[in-house]
Amino acid sequence: MTPPQPAPSASSAPPLPVHRLLSGQKALVTGANSGIGRGVAVGLAQAGADVMVNYVAGDDAAASVVDEIRRSGARGAAFKADVSSEDEVEAMFHSMREQFGTIDILVANAGLQRDAPFPDMTLEHWNKVLSVNLTGQFLCAREAVREFLRRGVVPEVSCAAGKIICMSSVHQEIPWGGHANYASSKGGIRMMMESMAQELAPRRIRVNSIAPGAIRTPINTVAWQTPQAYARLMTLVPYGRIGEPEDIARAAVWLASDHSDYVVGTTLFIDGGMTLYPGFATGG
Ligand code: NAD
Repeated sequence: MTPPQPAPSASSAPPLPVHRLLSGQKALVTGANSGIGRGVAVGLAQAGADVMVNYVAGDDAAASVVDEIRRSGARGAAFKADVSSEDEVEAMFHSMREQFGTIDILVANAGLQRDAPFPDMTLEHWNKVLSVNLTGQFLCAREAVREFLRRGVVPEVSCAAGKIICMSSVHQEIPWGGHANYASSKGGIRMMMESMAQELAPRRIRVNSIAPGAIRTPINTVAWQTPQAYARLMTLVPYGRIGEPEDIARAAVWLASDHSDYVVGTTLFIDGGMTLYPGFATGG
């Protein structure tokens, strides 16, 4: 009887050129015409991946991300779809397969806030945040996993059959008054990601999350736009600066690459120390 063969691993493969870590890979980034999604889409392209840019509104912004992707030498395409619509997500993955042949990397990033004090929070605002931030990630991840399982591992492309990065938040850990819907959606992502990672690792699918702290994007303009707001924000950030989309993009490239091949079911906090309870630095 033939002994079981070891699974392919990054250490048995030839060394990866650092700047083209994702050559030959096909990626889909949701909510990629703004903020973190935009930065991640461009970062993946600069690392050699072809990238589909999902967006729900803002044709011009999506087209400019695609231009930037193409300038880096990768293939790019835009697809307008609401990630909370099952039909639209299925159509997007159909288009991904038609245009790029398959998918190797999903970055489930699309998200929004609808803030309100708890007694005033409407069911509409609750449902909207949960349906985009949590159900949207579920629908996209399910389609990606179906394609990963259909295609399996292609060792010349990656050690894994596929990689999913869920964009979570420090608010999967830190409760957030006035944002109960948002914090609940991110807490849900944590358990969805870990359950998927546990279930799918034996099929060589790696699922992980990135949990950003305060990153300079349109979602949180009020938190950084004025010097007073910025100073207040810095009381929550031991490292003393706001994060930039590129801080997240560089980590996403690593998490999507075979350099992180043994990283499974982990949340990578990229938050300048926000989750270190900075209020306890001098007291408590
Ligand atoms: P952003 O507002 O700049 O980008 C959000 C993107 O999601 C936009 O492209 C938007 O069009 C898209 N989107 C919204 N609803 C959608 C839908 N139904 N279908 C498809 N796309 C949709 O904000 P951002 O800061 O770049 O946020 C990106 C992700 O990062 C979100 O999941 C957010 O929760 C998370 N995050 C951001 C921060 C931060 O400080 N900026 C911190 C933690 C987590």
